Amino acid sequence: MAPLDQDPVWLRSVCPHDCPSTCALEVEKLGPDQIGKVRGNALNDYTSGVICAKVAAYRERVHHPDRLTQPLRRIGTKGDGNFQPLSWDDAIDEVAEAFQKAEQKYGPETVWPYHFAGTMGLVQRDVIHGFRHALGYSREDETICVATAVAGWMAGHGKVWGADPREMQVSDMIVVWGGNPVATQVNVMTHITKARKERGAKLYVIDPYRTPTAALADVHLCLQPGTDGALACAMMHVLFRDGYADHEYMARYTDVPAELEAHLQTKTPAWAAAITGLSVAEIEDFAKAYGQTERAFIRVGYGFTRSRNGTANMHAVSCLPAVTGNWRHKGGGALHTNRNMFGVDQSLVRAIDCLDTSKRALDMSRIGRVLLNEPESLLGGPPVTAMIMQNINPVEVAPETHRVIEGLRRDDLFVCVHEQLPTATTAFADIVLPATMFLEHDDLYQGSGHMYLQVGRKIIEPLGEARSNVQVLSALARRLGCDHELFTLDAWEIIDRSLRASGYPGADDVAEAGWVDCTLPFDDAHFLNGFPNPDGKFHFKPDWSKIGSDFETMPTLPDHMAVIDAATPEKPYRLVAAPARRFLNTSFTETPTSIKKEHRPTALIHPDTLGKLGLTDGDEVTLGNDLGAVSVHAKSFDGVQADVVIVEGIWPNRYFKDGVGINALTSADRAYPNGGAVFHDTAVWMRPTADIAP
Ligand code: SF4
Repeated sequence: MAPLDQDPVWLRSVCPHDCPSTCALEVEKLGPDQIGKVRGNALNDYTSGVICAKVAAYRERVHHPDRLTQPLRRIGTKGDGNFQPLSWDDAIDEVAEAFQKAEQKYGPETVWPYHFAGTMGLVQRDVIHGFRHALGYSREDETICVATAVAGWMAGHGKVWGADPREMQVSDMIVVWGGNPVATQVNVMTHITKARKERGAKLYVIDPYRTPTAALADVHLCLQPGTDGALACAMMHVLFRDGYADHEYMARYTDVPAELEAHLQTKTPAWAAAITGLSVAEIEDFAKAYGQTERAFIRVGYGFTRSRNGTANMHAVSCLPAVTGNWRHKGGGALHTNRNMFGVDQSLVRAIDCLDTSKRALDMSRIGRVLLNEPESLLGGPPVTAMIMQNINPVEVAPETHRVIEGLRRDDLFVCVHEQLPTATTAFADIVLPATMFLEHDDLYQGSGHMYLQVGRKIIEPLGEARSNVQVLSALARRLGCDHELFTLDAWEIIDRSLRASGYPGADDVAEAGWVDCTLPFDDAHFLNGFPNPDGKFHFKPDWSKIGSDFETMPTLPDHMAVIDAATPEKPYRLVAAPARRFLNTSFTETPTSIKKEHRPTALIHPDTLGKLGLTDGDEVTLGNDLGAVSVHAKSFDGVQADVVIVEGIWPNRYFKDGVGINALTSADRAYPNGGAVFHDTAVWMRPTADIAP
């Protein structure tokens, strides 16, 4: 490993952002607290020396002039963002006293530690679970990202892993379903490009708009949002009808192939065409190409699952390789993520010895409803009157922005936000604590889109008085009188003990080696020794009651589940709030290069619709529904169906005319059957902003 104590020098690190690529990085250290360039590690054969432009320019973020450098106490009205400095000791005292006061009145569940994936490190991200468990606070139902996708994949497979992503290099057909790797996990394109160049592999993209990835594809199926299950069913109909189904494979590896075949009789391409907006020929051609290609690899994304029927859609799509049996072939099968592959023992960092599952788990996507004391969202417990937030900006990333803001304005709510840069959420905090960035602390990372476990060591000194999540929660826990061992350890000790408890080498050894390759043997990754369900089979007919409590509405066998926020005469358009290429949620919305390239919040609207609305390129258009209204600039875009509108982001609220962003329109309704945010499942009206009375 490159030495850690010579300047200037390139040092090994790991990208901590919420992206399945979890790139192996090399960082140029220019001084004790200064970095220069950041590049991909060429020796790691998944990263292959390639990283996205936003992280390559990371010096803009780590040395940003707006970084929070000292603890702050609010002196103005909530939301105004007026603060004055205070010492760390005083800040920890004030937070602890607020938590104790809240607990005396309502009991420990009134405190809600709130977090998500602002950092993906298994220690700095997850120590907040240890904190909540050890102190007996409310738990968090982590619905905002992968809940639907994971539940849908689990329903069929039993565990979440899949084919080695490097196998895409030897595929003849790669299907990117509901993802946009050019923008959101660039390394996937490295492997796809190799297969296209060296083998003439065909790239198919399934997405409701012509993303940069779809623009590069051989075939783009531009379907209606929330209809992927219908497309998958029609494909399976063709696979059975035309003799592409592998009956021998299904007899050995799947649960009810005959029932599935009978069920699919009516799921014809014409049936799916009416639902998806695709043509019968597009569906027939896609199904035939898939059926004829043994080495067909489906890279299953997240986007298409962020819908009320997203779990059912994921399950339907994941049935495809179990029908053709192309799990048998190298370069065949599918991958969603490898989250269950690594087996890292997190019992220490999550203080599992203190876990009390009778404590309520509040739905994080419903933070607005929780803070407005909606009884259903409080799950029968007390109001939330004290919070600490780490790695998250709910005022901009959670659904139902207006409710979130109204809830955070409550006078009887105390909020501490531990953050790297000022956000729309820090403006509502009572206490703001400065947080380290990944180059300023130690952490442990598993690659959800690949198979490497990596350690990222601190490279530079923290800016100002910034402290890590482990440092802050340990200090707070101790101040609250908690004597759990977790809060006596530093991050490196937690990493070391977690690795050893999992059967891996210790932290120093992993850091020295750079990474641990956790690749499963081919037969295990491809489920050729059976699927990790109790009967060893893939389930076309899952027991949905084991997946979530709202199981009664789930289709028994793969189907189109018609529970989406469908277009109506009053709201005739379907909105997809997709990720922008240079942002990652609201991270990187502060860096000048990203802002310059993304330009401004924009609605991509089909030219026919634009004309029908009396708009031209650059005009302001207002999108609205029962939750609110948002104005953006319109852009003519023919890579979308006429009644679908795309707004990429997440642009911070301050960039919008009325001070609220796109999540003012997205709902906190729970996906079936186990919850999950439904960011791409929104019916809206659209009108020229000029026609709307002020
Ligand atoms: S592609 Fe993803 S993992 Fe890689 S550097 Fe960019 S954000 Fe990080």
